[in-house]
Formats: sequence, C-alpha cells, structure tokens
Amino acid sequence: MQHETQAQAAEMPRSEALDILTLKGIEHRYGRHRAVAGIDLSVRQGEVVCLLGPSGCGKTTLLRVVAGLEVLQAGDIALQGRSLGTPHVPPEQRNVGLAFQEAALFPHLSVLENVTFGLKALPSRQRRERALALLAQLGMDGHAASYPHTLSGGQQQRVALARALAPQPGLMLLDEPFSSLDARLRDRIRDDTLHVLKQQGAGGLLVTHDPEEAMFMADRIALMRDGHIVQTGTPRQLYCHPVDPFVVTFFGAVNELSGEVREGRVATAVGEVAAPGLTEGERAQVLVRPEALSVEALDEPQADHHSHILMAKLLGRTSLLHICAHGLGRESHLHARVPGVFLPEPGQPVALRLDPSQVFVFPAGAGAPHGEA
Ligand code: ATP
Repeated sequence: MQHETQAQAAEMPRSEALDILTLKGIEHRYGRHRAVAGIDLSVRQGEVVCLLGPSGCGKTTLLRVVAGLEVLQAGDIALQGRSLGTPHVPPEQRNVGLAFQEAALFPHLSVLENVTFGLKALPSRQRRERALALLAQLGMDGHAASYPHTLSGGQQQRVALARALAPQPGLMLLDEPFSSLDARLRDRIRDDTLHVLKQQGAGGLLVTHDPEEAMFMADRIALMRDGHIVQTGTPRQLYCHPVDPFVVTFFGAVNELSGEVREGRVATAVGEVAAPGLTEGERAQVLVRPEALSVEALDEPQADHHSHILMAKLLGRTSLLHICAHGLGRESHLHARVPGVFLPEPGQPVALRLDPSQVFVFPAGAGAPHGEA
C-alpha cells in the first residue's frame, strides 16, 4: 500500500551550501573487484549520516576513501569546500576524527595524555581543560591518570572517542565503534557519543550493519548493497517508504505474501491491500511487517475468516504470535508482533486487522527480500 516510486520517496532537495562533506560518483576497486560504485552522498554540519548495509557491501571502503586511508580512484570528494582527491590529501590533513572498532590507544600514555595528543597547537592549560571536559562528557574524567591496560574495553573505547573528538574535527568518521561492546554498555556509549557529536556540531559518518543502531544514531541513513547506495533518507523515510523489498526486509523480518492485482488491489488471507503503481493482472509480492497485524481474541470463529493461533511466545517487550490466517479463500502462516504480554492458547480464534502503513506491495521479483518473519 505504501509502494512509492523512488522519486516520491527521495529526499527533499538539499542546499549544497550547507554540506560539510560531498561525495560525487565515487568508485573504488581492489584489483579487478569493484567494492563501491556510483556513490553520491553528502553530510551536513551537525548531521549524523549512517552507512548501513550487510557485510561486504562496501561501507568500510567508502569510509576509508573519505578518511584518506585509500587513495581516491574515481569521483570527487570535498570536505568543507576543499577538494581532497588530486593531489591526495593524507588523513592527518583532512580535519577528520577517526574511531574504529578497536580503541588502539597509545599504551605508554595516560588517558589524559592520549586525549591531549592531537592538541599540540593549544596552550597546555587549554589542552588539559578540553580533554577533561570531553572525558567528563563520556563518563571517563575519573580515569584521567589511568593507563589503557587498566581499563575495560568499553572504557578504552570512550577514551578513543574523546581522543578523536578533542581536536574538534569538522567530520567524525566512525567504523562500527560500538560493535565490540556488550549490549548494555553499547547503548550507553552510543547515547553519550550521539550527545557529544550533537553538542560539538561536527558532522558524523558512521558505518554500521545494525539497522537499530543506524536508526538510533542517524539523521539520515544511506542503505548500501553490493557497492551501491539503494536508498538515502531519514530513518522514517527508509522504514515507512522503502523503495524496494531489500530496504523493507533489512529493517526486520516480514511476512511475505503474494497474489495477482485485481482492480488495483491484491487479495490476501488478511484482506485486500492496495497495489498502487502495479498493473492489472500483474503478480505482486506483499510484505507485511509483523507489527502491522493487530490481533483480537474471539469467543467464536468468524463466519468468513477462520484465523487462529498456532503458537505464542513472549519476547520481552513484545509477544510473537504464529497465526494460521484464513480469508478470501486463502490460507497463510503469519507472524504478528504485539506489545506486552499477550499469549493466547493454540487454537484460539482471532480476528486480524492490518495497519496499511506497514504493508508494502511490489511487483513480484522486484529485488530479493532479505528474510522472512
Ligand atoms: P563489513 O561490514 O563486513 O566490514 P563492508 O560493508 O564494510 O563489510 P568492505 O570492507 O568495504 O565492506 O568490503 C567491500 C568489498 O571489498 C568486499 O567484497 C571485500 O571482500 C572487498 N575488500 C575490502 N577490502 C579489501 C582489500 N584490502 N583487498 C581486496 N578486497 C577487499
């Protein structure tokens, strides 16, 4: 129902004057292997953009090209209006901060010395003040005199982030900096990092393969596949107006149904859904997010819809219901995800309703989905 053309789902026109980083037509090869191609992307001052995508899609390559760790092969890069391509500008002259999965602190320097390392141009008092302020923002001011080997992985990562942010770079480049941390620590460090980035007003380009992390951190997401950007937009644009099945399924498993278009609609076991943009008689795939289904327990089965529960599992904040859906002469096994604890017994008759904003209809064969619910 929410099938929109790429043009409709595209971003609003952006003024290039506000962009801190612009990439145009970037292509990068390792020998004969083309890792990225046709990359157009921008980051504005104060904006966090996430490069999101499955393993091997080219996220790190793109970040390394921006950082200057790879020499630009094709296309244009401009940072704060300055072209970085030819001649090659080395990473330390790009006014970028780098943070990677591993903290890589200087082992022989204290936490404070690590953070002040890149601030040699400042008077020593100012250096110290800035470093301590950043360490405080990242919850590490109590460890200023400690050495890296005495810190946990999460603490080291906080220091590494403070060190990268201390010179107040125009752009922070972050490559999965939270991925080696356990879930609770990751949430906290992510949150602190986002606040520091926003407070500093730097632009940020963050690589992640985790859609939830991208939605948490990003003002805009560029979703990549096979070296290309499939869709760029706000988290809401990608989640609610995906341009193809890959985008839908990258943000979570879905129910996959199919049918033929009749009078602009496709009949499914949970009712008819609109198929705008598809032609009469065309085969369609209908992708239904598990949260698009609302489920009501019934005393008696409905006359024309004999849907019932097969299994119910508590997942914590939500319950996952396996449902045998009957309707319009069709039967489907569906997964519904409902808030809170709702665990009907197997065999319980239910009525199903669809939230059309989380149902997506595409021509059959329009890009391989990433996974089923
Ligand atoms: P991951 O999330 O697993 O880190 P990614 O999306 O960051 O993946 P890249 O690391 O950029 O992807 O890799 C893109 C492609 O380029 C992959 O096919 C990879 O095997 C290849 N590649 C990356 N680095 C090199 C290299 N130094 N030499 C040859 N091929 C490489």
